[in-house]
Amino acid sequence: MKIKKGDTVIVLSGKDKGKKGKVLEARPQDQEVIVERVNVVKRHMKATREFQGGIIEKTRPIKVSKVMLVCPKCNEPSRTKTKEVENKKVRACVKCNEVVDKV
Ligand SMILES: [Zn+2]
Repeated sequence: MKIKKGDTVIVLSGKDKGKKGKVLEARPQDQEVIVERVNVVKRHMKATREFQGGIIEKTRPIKVSKVMLVCPKCNEPSRTKTKEVENKKVRACVKCNEVVDKV
């Protein structure tokens, strides 16, 4: 996957279009990511013995195709290219050439 945990991404479509957030979890098997404050669903919970009831907010995963990486340097949604630094393959911004991954 092109998006990894800790990346800042922008949502391209859906009800959270235009929102930016940090990737809290990446799920390559499902091609999904969980993004901070994006795709938050509210669930009303009934009271139980352990829980007093109320609204619970849960962040649901979204498809990775719906988000785009935001470059930490130019602060714009950007595609990445693969670059080799010290024999390691890293992602770099196509616009400003900034390496996105920590080497
Ligand atoms: Zn950039």
